[in-house]
Amino acid sequence: MAKNRFVIHKHGARSVHYDLRLEDEGVLKSWAIPKGPSTNPADKRLAIQTDDHALDYADFEGIIPEGYGAGPVIIWDQGTFKNMKATLSLAESLSNGEATVFLEGEKLKGAYVLVKTNYQGKDNAWLFIKMKDEHADQRAITTELPLSVVSGKALEDLS
Ligand code: MN
Repeated sequence: MAKNRFVIHKHGARSVHYDLRLEDEGVLKSWAIPKGPSTNPADKRLAIQTDDHALDYADFEGIIPEGYGAGPVIIWDQGTFKNMKATLSLAESLSNGEATVFLEGEKLKGAYVLVKTNYQGKDNAWLFIKMKDEHADQRAITTELPLSVVSGKALEDLS
């Protein structure tokens, strides 16, 4: 199974959030996670699916100028991932409303599940949840490790 890239941008738009992006079939499937990812399996983090982005956006760090999403962006984490469902492609798993991925990032590691939810009647709402494995813990990882894995900068350093 080929390993694809993943990136998590930390994005200081109208409110600070985290954008999870998974490479699949030549694009970055994307979700905005208002509270950011957690390494604690007890946390169910809302993840709102957003537009697919071009692959080269995985390397973007900088400031989005005026307009939609205006504000600073850092690469909070990046690495590769595997689709853990051997019998289905990631696209098939996503269209079924549940995908399990194994992340090998600099911060996030191990198995995570994305599962569709009917939060507030939205059709783009998912939950992003750490699965129980040796990489699960109860750290507040977004506050303990706030900086870009590429530049070492904080979001505030860009704004
Ligand atoms: Mn965003």
